[in-house]
Amino acid sequence: SKKIVVVGGVAGGASAAARIRRLDENAEIIMLERGPHVSFSNCSLPYHLSGIVEDHESLVVTNPQTFEERYKIEARVQQEVVKINRDKKTITIKDATTDSTYEESYDKLILSPGASPIRPSNIEGIDNDHVFTVRNVEDIRQLNAYVKGKNIKDIAVIGGGFIGVEVAENLRLAGNHVSLIEFADQVMTSYDNDMAQILHKEMVDHGLNLVTNDGLDVIGDGFVRTQSGKKIDAQAVVLAIGVRPETTLAEDAGLEIGETGSIKVDHNYLTSDRDIYAVGDAIEVYHRLLHKPTRLALAGPAQKQARAAADHIYGIPNRNLGIIGSSSIHLFDLNAASTGLNARTAELAGFSYDSVYIMPADKVNLMPNSNVMHFKLVYETPTGRILGAQAIGKGNVDKRIDVIATMIMMNGTLEDLKDVELTYSPMLGTAKDVVNHAALVAWNQLNGVYREVKVTQVRALVENGACIIDAREKNEFNSGHLKNAKNIPLSEFRDRLDDIPTDEPVYIHCRSGQRSYNMVMALQNLGFTNVWNISGSYLGINLYE
Ligand code: FAD
Repeated sequence: SKKIVVVGGVAGGASAAARIRRLDENAEIIMLERGPHVSFSNCSLPYHLSGIVEDHESLVVTNPQTFEERYKIEARVQQEVVKINRDKKTITIKDATTDSTYEESYDKLILSPGASPIRPSNIEGIDNDHVFTVRNVEDIRQLNAYVKGKNIKDIAVIGGGFIGVEVAENLRLAGNHVSLIEFADQVMTSYDNDMAQILHKEMVDHGLNLVTNDGLDVIGDGFVRTQSGKKIDAQAVVLAIGVRPETTLAEDAGLEIGETGSIKVDHNYLTSDRDIYAVGDAIEVYHRLLHKPTRLALAGPAQKQARAAADHIYGIPNRNLGIIGSSSIHLFDLNAASTGLNARTAELAGFSYDSVYIMPADKVNLMPNSNVMHFKLVYETPTGRILGAQAIGKGNVDKRIDVIATMIMMNGTLEDLKDVELTYSPMLGTAKDVVNHAALVAWNQLNGVYREVKVTQVRALVENGACIIDAREKNEFNSGHLKNAKNIPLSEFRDRLDDIPTDEPVYIHCRSGQRSYNMVMALQNLGFTNVWNISGSYLGINLYE
C-alpha cells in the first residue's frame, strides 16, 4: 500500500488527505501541521473579533482524533517539516512538543503549506507586542484576548485587502475605534475604483476611519504614524498587507519556483519532482483570461487543487481549467462579489474591452427588501466575450457573480448572458435579472444602439460646460443635482424638445440609468444624433465624486 505524507493540515492539506482516503482504504496517510490545529476555518477567523463566532475553539472544524477515528488519517500537530530529502524520499520533522527531530518516509508527498502574512522588517516598532497578524486560530485568539483584556479602544488595521477589511469590520462591530490604512487609492483591488467607492462609503458610514493613499511609517506606543505624517491613535495594530507563499521548504529541496515566486506545478499539481505535489496558496496558478501564471490565495481553488492532486496519484485524469479569481465579501450591511477581470486589469493586460455600470433593483420594487444593486460588467470588444463583473448591494450579489463566473468558464458572450434563463419570483429577484439586464445594456452598447459615457468622465464634462440633462422629476432634481445640469424630466421631454440642443453633444442621466436610457432611445428615434447616456447615472456619480 502507498504511504502518502501531507505537509500542512488546513484547507489544501486536509482536503487532499480526506480525498486520498476516499480513493484508497489501504493507504497510510500522515498529515503534518506546524501549528496546534488542523482543519480550521481560516475564512471565519475575523468573525471571532465581533463575537459572531463566540468561541475560538469552534473555528476548528475537525481535530486529530476525529481524523483518526473517521478517516484513519494520522494528523500530527506541532510538527514542522523542516527538510525534504528527495534522494531518500524522506522528510525531516521538528517536533515542537519534544524539541526533537525525526524522519518519515513517503511514497508521495503533497505540500500545502499556504502563505504567511507579510511583516515588513523596516518599519519602526514592527516587533512590538501590540502588533498582530491574522492567519490561524491562535492569532485571532491572541488578538481578541489582547483587545478585550486590555480594554483597547483604538486599533489600526494596515492593508485594505479582504482580510484587512474583514478584520476592521469585525473590530468595529465589537465597538472599537478602527482606522483602516491603505496605501493605494482604494480597498479591495478586485473592484474598480468607481465600485470601490461604494465600499468606502459603507465603511465610513459605519464609523471606520478609512485612510487611503497613505502607508504605515512608524508604530509607536499608542499610535501609528503614516507616511504622510498623520498620527493615528492605536493601542493595537493589525498587519494585513498581503501574504507571501511559503516556499522555503520547496526551494531548499531544489523544487522549481515559478516566475511569480510561488512553487511551480504542472497540469496535475506535480512539482518538478515526480513524487511531490503542491497545492493551495503556495503555488503558482494559470490565469485563464490573462494567459499567464499568477498567485491566488483563496480557499475554493485550494480545495479543488487538493482533490486533483489526490486523484492524480490514483490515475484519475484532471481537467485544469486555470483560475479567474472569484471572491465575495460581506461588509456591514452590504455584500460584494467579483469575478474575472475588472476594467483596470483588462486595461493593464492590453485587452480591447468595454464595460457597463447599471444599478437596477435586486428584487421587485414592491417587495420589502428590494434594494439597488450596483453591477459592473466588463466584456471584450468586438467579440462580446465576458471578461468579468463586480456586484455590490444588500441582496444576493453572489448569485449574480456566480452566473458570470460560470459564463466566463464556458467562454460565454453577451449574447449568452442576455439569453440565459434564470429563476424569478418577486421576493427573490426581477423578471429581467440584473445579469440579463447588464448583458442587454452591454449588447446595445457593443452594437452601437446607443452611446454612453462613464461615470468617471462626468467631472470633466461638468467642468467643460457640456450640456447635461437630468431626466429625473423636478422634486428629485431640487434635492440635489450636478452643477449646470438642465432638468428635463422623462415625463416632460416630448413637450420640451426645443430645449434640447442639436448642435452639441447632449449627456443624459437620471437616478439609476433607466429613465435616461429611455430618453436617449426616444431622442434617437426622433432624429437627435448626438445624445449620450451617462452610465451609472446620479447614484454612481454621487458615489464617485
Ligand atoms: P492554509 O490553509 O494556510 O494551510 C497551510 C498550513 O500549513 C498552515 O496551517 C501552516 O501552519 C502549515 N504549514 C506550513 N508550512 C509547514 C511545514 N513546513 N510543516 C508543517 N506545516 C506547515 N479564502 C476564501 O476563498 N474566502 C474567504 O472568505 C477567505 N477568508 C480568509 C480570511 C482569513 C483571515 C485568512 C487568513 C484567509 C482567508 N481566505 C479566504 C484564504 C484561504 O484561507 C486560503 O486560501 C486557504 O486556506 C489556503 O489553503 P492552504 O492549504 O494553501 O493554506
